[in-house]
Amino acid sequence: MSPTDGKTLAEKSLEHEFHSFFPPGYQSGKTKFIIVTGSVMSGVGKGTFTGALATLLSCHGLKVSPVKFDGYLNYDAGTLNPYRHGEVFVLEDGTECDLDLGSYERALHRNMTKDNYLTGGKIFKMILDKERRGEYLGRDIQFIPHVTGEIKNFLRELAQKTNADVVLVEVGGTIGDLENSYFIEAMRELRYEEGKNNVAFINLTYIIEPGSLGEFKSKAAQIGLRQLMMLGVQPDIIICRSQNPVPESIKEKVSIFGNVPINHVYNIYDFSNIYEIPLVLRDLGLDKELFKILNLSPKENKDSVLNFENWENFVEKIKNANKEITIAIVGKYTNVRDSYLSIVKSLEHAAPYLGARVKIKWVEATDIEDGKISVEDALKDVNGVIVPGGFGKRGVEGKIAAIKYVRENNIPYLGLCYGMQLAVVEFARNVCGLKTAHTTEVNPGTDCPIIDIIPEQKDKLEKSEIGGTMRLGAYPAKLKEDSITKKLYGKDVILERHRHRWELNPKFHKILEENGIVLSGIYEERNLVEFIELPNHKFFVATQAHAEFTSRPLSPSPLFVGFVQACIG
Ligand code: GLN
Repeated sequence: MSPTDGKTLAEKSLEHEFHSFFPPGYQSGKTKFIIVTGSVMSGVGKGTFTGALATLLSCHGLKVSPVKFDGYLNYDAGTLNPYRHGEVFVLEDGTECDLDLGSYERALHRNMTKDNYLTGGKIFKMILDKERRGEYLGRDIQFIPHVTGEIKNFLRELAQKTNADVVLVEVGGTIGDLENSYFIEAMRELRYEEGKNNVAFINLTYIIEPGSLGEFKSKAAQIGLRQLMMLGVQPDIIICRSQNPVPESIKEKVSIFGNVPINHVYNIYDFSNIYEIPLVLRDLGLDKELFKILNLSPKENKDSVLNFENWENFVEKIKNANKEITIAIVGKYTNVRDSYLSIVKSLEHAAPYLGARVKIKWVEATDIEDGKISVEDALKDVNGVIVPGGFGKRGVEGKIAAIKYVRENNIPYLGLCYGMQLAVVEFARNVCGLKTAHTTEVNPGTDCPIIDIIPEQKDKLEKSEIGGTMRLGAYPAKLKEDSITKKLYGKDVILERHRHRWELNPKFHKILEENGIVLSGIYEERNLVEFIELPNHKFFVATQAHAEFTSRPLSPSPLFVGFVQACIG
């Protein structure tokens, strides 16, 4: 007998709960679900794999809607310290989220929304808000069915809203964590309710290779798989991650312990070029096996830039790129490289089209500031410099010293957010002669607040729905005729994403222009500067926005392309 006794799942659910976890009109089977989990340890490359799979399925013409589950109790990533968690990625709609959403956008060449991101905090807030509104009608609210139900509902709504062929779920954390256990339970239920042909589980596990033994050991992987199965989840596909290629005998062990036929056990070892992974997965036949499991077929893919031909070309370009350039990133979180992930990615996207490969030199701004290293020593052997976004006082004078050095020595410069604000401070001090110029973020009492929170903006931001006082999400910039910026973007008005409180103070626009800065992009509605540039410099362009958030492999950010081009010389 079917688990639904001939009734639709939605009807069945309504009989027993005050709440249906099937959105109205939902049809099971229309969207397939692929669930990616990781066992043994974190850092096995679940995000990279999920992104690569998303690219692969997209190249097959399927509409993929990815979701990241994060077990932590923060509502979103806006309050997370990049020092601990890596970059806070900002979506076009202003959502501040985990850097995995950046990977999804880059993998799919499509914008994500808040519906692609779910934290434990968001689920519990949603449930408690509903409870306060009386929507559970006196029921005791339990992990099962309510918490797991809301998670399933979230996925089904996403499937419906985005008309997805595949909802691709990446479960953060490792199997066995308390934090993600209710997500995994929800996924177990999802498979039961949607049916075997509609939900596939892929488990990434790690095959250790202890240096002292000089051979692979699959025990940890076996234990991880057993743990997953104890939660009621039978994987369909197992990916053995490893540093080096694993022998067949290891795959056989994993196969038998995991209850997974050997042809569904794959090995992906470390790749120097992660852009090859979608093609590697295809060559391994993972797509075909998934299609069989899910009863799914590829679709015609004519209109999208994201197709096999373009992707293969891009990978080929990376292989052939032979001009090596070194770019310094002068930042504050340089010992957590993930803090600047999107910047690194943007360089990786732009360089191959110009035949270049980029080496990054991480320069800690506080080391310059504290005199541990001179700015000349830090930057003398680089082809270009980026000052990225940042907050607070520490390292600011080091960044300003670096900007002065590149401006005076005609070294290509790209400033992003704080990198633009501090370029303006440097220029005001050393070119306009405004010796006390500063941002009020660092010196609230300065008599020359060239970077400031402007009052009308404060009002507007406080009244807006955003809640916080940051300018978040995409804003339009009108680009100036004949500017470098306009030539790069090739458009009158462009959109880039923001995440900051301070602005270039409009009272100082004139003096800056008189001294030679071109204000090359303006958010006209509020007369705010979005881009600046120096015309008589090899390349000196900076933006109040985070141009790194919109770069994608097959459509690199024009700003980064211009910058890398200048660095090549
Ligand atoms: N701290 C600056 C501000 O809030 C810049 C922020 C950033 O670089 N993202 O305006």
